[in-house]
Amino acid sequence: MKLIHLFILATFFITPLIALTTDNRPSWRAVIVYDNNAGDPRLKTDWGFSCYLEGPEKTILFDCGGRGDILLSNLEKLGLSPQKIEVICLSHFHQDHVGGLEDFLIKNAQVEVWLPYFFPSDFKKAIVKKGARVIEVAKPAPIGHGLYTSGVIDGPIREQSLVLDTREGLVVITGCAHPGIVHILEEIKTSFPKKFYMVIGGFHLAGLPEIEIKKIVAEFRRLGIRKVGPTHCSGDAARRLFSEEYGLDYINPGLGREVIIQ
Ligand SMILES: [Zn+2]
Ligand SMILES: [Zn+2]
Repeated sequence: MKLIHLFILATFFITPLIALTTDNRPSWRAVIVYDNNAGDPRLKTDWGFSCYLEGPEKTILFDCGGRGDILLSNLEKLGLSPQKIEVICLSHFHQDHVGGLEDFLIKNAQVEVWLPYFFPSDFKKAIVKKGARVIEVAKPAPIGHGLYTSGVIDGPIREQSLVLDTREGLVVITGCAHPGIVHILEEIKTSFPKKFYMVIGGFHLAGLPEIEIKKIVAEFRRLGIRKVGPTHCSGDAARRLFSEEYGLDYINPGLGREVIIQ
């Protein structure tokens, strides 16, 4: 137990308002490596989400998909080495986002695992036992240069998102968006004093009536979001409606999709 505490750092005491840098903002390469929306035919499509992110300072994996064998095989086929990944950030404790972690840690345990503080203690202990470090997230905090956790966002299922500070504005990457995608963005807006640029990930809108989805699309415009990439649990209707509204600024982020963010 003592050993666990030694390795679990917490973000509880970090001030929620993030001071962003004004220059030297890095560019990022994001690749969707696990998704239930098919894309690159070399890769295995499966329910879940994982996004690989390469910046000038840190290489990170946001969520791990549901199955380790699929995650590792997709990474390999894309020529992305697990050994290069230094940080894993887990959005929320659902199998389709955390299931691939165990197998990943067998390949590379020299990582920091950033997770919401309320994750089950057995799960955290298993990570530490494999040799990785656990970082418990509560509030917004810097993970690396130009890279932040949104902090835990309240909702029926609490989760964290990733926030990149780029020259164009904030890029947000979401897991399932269980707290509500608009609620997540509103919360990020209060912690990060900068305009939005892009939102990619699961928006959790599958099964919602079109009239409700249209309201959410309008909220995205109101929030000033310039590019959008709904995937995973966003649902086909939401993907179509966002695509109609955003046109060339719609990113179709199926499996294997690479996005370069300047
Ligand atoms: Zn999910
Ligand atoms: Zn979920």
